[in-house]
Order: sequence, then C-alpha cells, then structure tokens
Amino acid sequence: MITDEIHKSHSILIASHTQPDGDAIGSMLSLGVALKSLGKKVTLYNESPIPAIFRFLPSVNLIVAEAGNLGNYDMAIILDCGDLQRIGKISDDIHQIPVIINIDHHITNTEFGTTVMVDSTACATAEIIYRLIKDLGATIDKTIANALYTAILTDTGSFLFQNTNSAAFSISSEMVSKGADPYIVAQYVYATYSLGRLKLLNMVLDTIDISENGKLSTMFLSQKMLMETGTQLEDIYGLVNYAKHIEDVQVAALIRETHPGVNGKGTFHVSLRSSGAVDVSKIASELGGGGHCNAAGFKAESMTLSDLKKKIFILAKAL
Ligand code: 5GP
Ligand code: MN
Repeated sequence: MITDEIHKSHSILIASHTQPDGDAIGSMLSLGVALKSLGKKVTLYNESPIPAIFRFLPSVNLIVAEAGNLGNYDMAIILDCGDLQRIGKISDDIHQIPVIINIDHHITNTEFGTTVMVDSTACATAEIIYRLIKDLGATIDKTIANALYTAILTDTGSFLFQNTNSAAFSISSEMVSKGADPYIVAQYVYATYSLGRLKLLNMVLDTIDISENGKLSTMFLSQKMLMETGTQLEDIYGLVNYAKHIEDVQVAALIRETHPGVNGKGTFHVSLRSSGAVDVSKIASELGGGGHCNAAGFKAESMTLSDLKKKIFILAKAL
C-alpha cells in the first residue's frame, strides 16, 4: 500500500515536470503540505521557475530549484510526469533514492518507479492526490484547498476539456467549502496577463496555417518573438487553444522553437491539441513524445521549420 510506504518514510522528495503547469504545482503543494502536517521532512522540487500566475498560491515558496543531496532521501514522489525524464536533470541520479512513487494521469505514462499510481481517468494528477491525502488521514486546510482547486481548474481548462469529470466538480466544491476562493484564483490565473503576452499572442496568431482539408492548424512561436515582446515560456500557456477553436479544425499544433540551430535546422517542441475523438497522444507517441488524448506533445531536432510543418500537415490526411 502506498499509504503504508509513505507512513514508513521520513525524508521525502516531491518533484514534478519542468515548465510546471497548475496541476504540477498544485499537486506538489497540496501533497507537500499534507505530508508536512503528518510530520514528514519534505522537499518540494521543480527545476523551472514557477510561472507568475501561480505565485499567489499559499506556501508556493516551499517549492525550490535545488534538490540537494539525493542520498539523503528515502522516498521520491514524482507527480504529473508521463516519463521520468520530464522532471529534468535530476532524472539521471534519482535512482539513488530507494523508493520512487509515480503518481500521474497521462495515458502514455511509462510506469517508471518502484510504485505506480497512474489513473488516466483522473481529470488531473490533483484528483489522485486528493484521494491520497484523504487515505493518509491528513486534514485539508486552506492552503491545500487552494492548491487542489487551482490544479483541477487549470488542468480541465476551466471545466471545458474532455477530461472534465464528475470528480472535477465534486472535489472543487469541497475545496471551496474548505477555503479555496474561485474569484481570487481566477483573478491571478486568468486576469493578470502582461501587455507583452498579448503582443506575443498577436504575433503567434499571425502565423496560423490551415491544412488543405481544413482539419489541422499550425502556429509558430520563435525565440525572437519571446525576446521582442519581453515574454517568457510561462506566457505561452493556453496559446495553442486559439488554433483549436477554428471551425472544422480537429487538431491544432503549436510549434515552438527551442533552439534556433544552424543552417536553418533548429530544435522544436510541438504542442498538439485535439477536440472530440482524435487521440493526439497516439500521434505524439509515434513521434517520440506523449500526453493525453486531447493534449500531447513531442520534440523535433535538427529540422527546418518548413520540413517540420510538412511532417505535421501529413497528419491532416488521416483526419
Ligand atoms: P504541452 O503541449 O502543454 O507542453 O503538453 C501537453 C501534454 O502533453 C502534457 O500533459 C505533457 O505531459 C505532454 N507532453 C508534451 N510534450 C511532451 C514530450 O515531449 N514528451 C512527452 N512524453 N509528453 C509530452
Ligand atoms: Mn496534469
């Protein structure tokens, strides 16, 4: 039993994926605060900075970018990661920690770790964390309530995406009764865009391209656009959805240049979004990535942008 394993452990490292989203952050914070209340020594680790829109969360400063000596932990809990590499550079040494618990809701999860707790029917990793906190017998305070609510709100796209299930509403309702404030959360998460972010949106919308059959759209985001608008990676959150909302479009791809590269051959990350029955996690897995049915991604290396776009547009033929 995972609860027995946790009760037996003393020093726990909780980590989630680089470029953390609301689910990664909210799951870490809620589990971290719950385990602390049970007397555990807990380190919350994320390699990347916490996006400004999530920095209002109570106790967010518990999340640090240094894990310290991995030999000092007797357990690692990895959250919201489809594969171990998603935690970033510490993935190479994480096996120094004897017990690795993998808690996730990605359908493409590789089942890494010594204990696997994957539920692809969960709306968010936070749904699994909610159940775990209850099973552990910890009390849900205001900090945990805000963290779990924010995680579920953002991972379900404000209860609009296909992963929105009954638990999304019932847990959210309970969290509001325990101190989560939907208005405050919405103000920080959705109403604090910088001017640069809107200018970036303008530039990215300008790159929209549609396949011949109208079923697939692409958008492109370069390093130069980020520089010119003074924005960071965190400002990209949600951009891909604009290309998905076009009528007839079933799959939207946001191509992000990660390194400009040489001779026009760069490195890219592609975010895929689909509506309805199209399973983009299958497409992403075939291209070396992974994700969920309606939200997935993959990386492309030493390719020109035009070759990458051709490769993506071929996918439209099967739609
Ligand atoms: P996003 O497009 O927001 O970066 O990611 C959407 C979903 O796809 C996330 O749940 C994420 O876990 C997954 N994903 C995105 N990029 C990759 C990737 O390169 N590899 C894997 N395995 N999953 C990815
Ligand atoms: Mn998630």
